[in-house]
Amino acid sequence: MNPYTNKEHEALRLKVREFAENEVKHVATDLDEKEEFSRDLTQRMGDLGLFGIYLPKEYGGEDKDYLSLLIAVEEMARVDASQASTLAAHNSLGIGPIYYFGTEKQKVDYLPALCTGKHVWAFGLTEENAGSDSRGTQSKAELINENWIINGRKKFISNGSSESSLGVTLQVITGEEDGKKELSVILVDRSTLGFNAYPMKGKMMWRASDTADLTFEDCKVPQENLLGELGQGAKIMLKTLDSGRLTIAAMGLGLAQGAYEEALKYANKREQFGKPILKFQAIAFKLADMATKIQAARALLYQACWLKDNGHEFGKQSAMAKLYCSEIAREVANEAVQIHGAHGLLKSSDVERFYRDQRILEIGEGTSEILRLVISRHITSKDKEKSRIKAKVEDDKTRFAYCDN
Ligand SMILES: Cc1cc2nc3c(=O)[nH]c(=O)nc-3n(C[C@H](O)[C@H](O)[C@H](O)COP(=O)(O)OP(=O)(O)OC[C@H]3O[C@@H](n4cnc5c(N)ncnc54)[C@H](O)[C@@H]3O)c2cc1C
Repeated sequence: MNPYTNKEHEALRLKVREFAENEVKHVATDLDEKEEFSRDLTQRMGDLGLFGIYLPKEYGGEDKDYLSLLIAVEEMARVDASQASTLAAHNSLGIGPIYYFGTEKQKVDYLPALCTGKHVWAFGLTEENAGSDSRGTQSKAELINENWIINGRKKFISNGSSESSLGVTLQVITGEEDGKKELSVILVDRSTLGFNAYPMKGKMMWRASDTADLTFEDCKVPQENLLGELGQGAKIMLKTLDSGRLTIAAMGLGLAQGAYEEALKYANKREQFGKPILKFQAIAFKLADMATKIQAARALLYQACWLKDNGHEFGKQSAMAKLYCSEIAREVANEAVQIHGAHGLLKSSDVERFYRDQRILEIGEGTSEILRLVISRHITSKDKEKSRIKAKVEDDKTRFAYCDN
């Protein structure tokens, strides 16, 4: 039993689990080996209603809460992190900023197509000199005759180059005052002249996901493609990452669950010294630790998502959930390989793929070092602490608000 989920959530979990088990599992190793993005699986995730799942019906969504998205991502990651990453990135980084910061016209123009499964949308923040420090952005947009003229380059962009990719939300410099950059966000359609996308190959993980290098040479887009206000770029990107981190955490949780289940099955089946290795306390204790970490991770993540779904501040909890779920994904995947012995080192074993796929989770959307910085700032900031205590007092009818320590 989980206090955060209802029957509808659990029905969705079963539906996605069935799809992942029956349609994804048998092709995951092959797609990983070939580094192949699957347009077909992307379309079918859309057919299941997983794209824009948390959007209102009027924009093409399913009118569900954000926890529904996390459950879908978790279940997909339990089987294949690459497909889970397409699902997570498109929903949180692609659809998210347009839904949360777009004008009504932008929402109506873009969102319905992004909910079908036919298309994905990307989020362009990272550049050669802008990783953890997103103010390192060098890409620029200049307003000339009511059009933005964009020049620059983005790196490591999920869902940026496949045939499904429809465009990108881009952080650019739109001005400068006293040496301080004015950062803004602009929507750029893939069909824009001068916009080129190149798949980045040779990744150790998420090999069947689309990661791209994007270049912009005198790309001309209408002035109304600005998302939010001028100068709001950093705020939009950071708010987007607060929600994105929940989906990365869900990937860590799902991957850990998948690796744990594989390890449990194998420990039951593999015999040494005349009995299943599960009977050795050293192995049983590993499994006990794995199961405990997974349960703690799920509680932390679902609580963070509950705060979001119920309109509370959730930035700190989202950072905590992402940090913890990604770290336990590493620990659990590592022990899953250990339990498999040499068999866990073979490409034919799912735990070998899980072991590689977890590695990005402590890097993308805020490295673990940056997340500790974010969490420690929340904890040590006096103003935030004061408003947190005030919110708690005002919110004393709310069951889970007291968990917010
Ligand atoms: C498969 C994949 C998909 C991605 N998808 C996207 C996407 O869709 N959109 C997008 O914009 N980006 C994307 N990224 C980029 C990703 O978000 C960045 O890699 C991440 O933000 C970290 O930046 P970096 O790799 O440049 O590391 P750096 O920032 O260069 O960090 C290097 C090391 O220094 C540490 N460090 C840096 N600053 C500090 C500090 N102040 N204190 C302590 N330690 C510090 C880091 O923690 C890290 O250990 C993707 C990356 C990958 C691999």
